Amino acid sequence: MTEPGDAALEGARLARLGDNLAAVRQRIDAAVAAAGRQGNPPRLIVVTKFHPAQDVRRLASLGITDVGENRDQEAADKAAQLTELDLRWHFIGQLQSNKAKSVVKYAHAVHSVDRPPLAAALAKAMATERERTGRAPLDCFIQVSLDDDADRHRGGALPADVPGLAEQLAGSEGLRLAGVMAVAPLGTDPAAAFEKMAAISARLTAQFPDAMGISAGMSQDLEAAIRFGATHLRIGSDILGPRPALR
Ligand SMILES: *Cc1c(COP(=O)(O)O)cnc(C)c1O
Repeated sequence: MTEPGDAALEGARLARLGDNLAAVRQRIDAAVAAAGRQGNPPRLIVVTKFHPAQDVRRLASLGITDVGENRDQEAADKAAQLTELDLRWHFIGQLQSNKAKSVVKYAHAVHSVDRPPLAAALAKAMATERERTGRAPLDCFIQVSLDDDADRHRGGALPADVPGLAEQLAGSEGLRLAGVMAVAPLGTDPAAAFEKMAAISARLTAQFPDAMGISAGMSQDLEAAIRFGATHLRIGSDILGPRPALR
């Protein structure tokens, strides 16, 4: 049942999302133009973590096709509620190997592959899933740590470990080596971090020419990411607003 006022509230939320999206798209367009990348703009992934499935539905009505989530339970629940929408789900958070089986049921891509056992678990899960559904290969981005201070380092393979992980992913049936992913370390210049990431990407594509993906750029640093070649932006709070308090 619709309560009086629900339609107005719905309209307000949709308008807010539309305005935020337009503002972010304008920033992206300006950065793309400044980088001379009009022929090769990045793909926008809207990070919907902590926001309800209904917001994902609203975003889809505004033309969004790619959404990002960082927790398996939440992502699986939303994907199950939204099967009628033609969406690509991107898993962007730290992932335990025992969640691989669940993630491959809905994810188009995993952006946070950072260690050999996780790659192996995803390959095993995909073998089963492909037998069951014939689904397309899973796009895998190698998450790289860009932090010079190894003690601060949380998640992400060390740059020196990228070639080995790339070999493993490229040789795994059902997985597609898509490229690299990074988060700019807190409290540092994102441009410097993304410049380092571009060099890591160049070394990777020298060996694996198809692995051109660079997943980088969040609300705060999308301009720097675009300047250094990001192909996939992961934008949350500037589109959805502040994340609701942790449950
Ligand atoms: C939450 C998150 C984002 C989105 O960050 P915003 O600052 O809200 O744009 C991007 N990437 C990862 C890995 C995240 O966890």
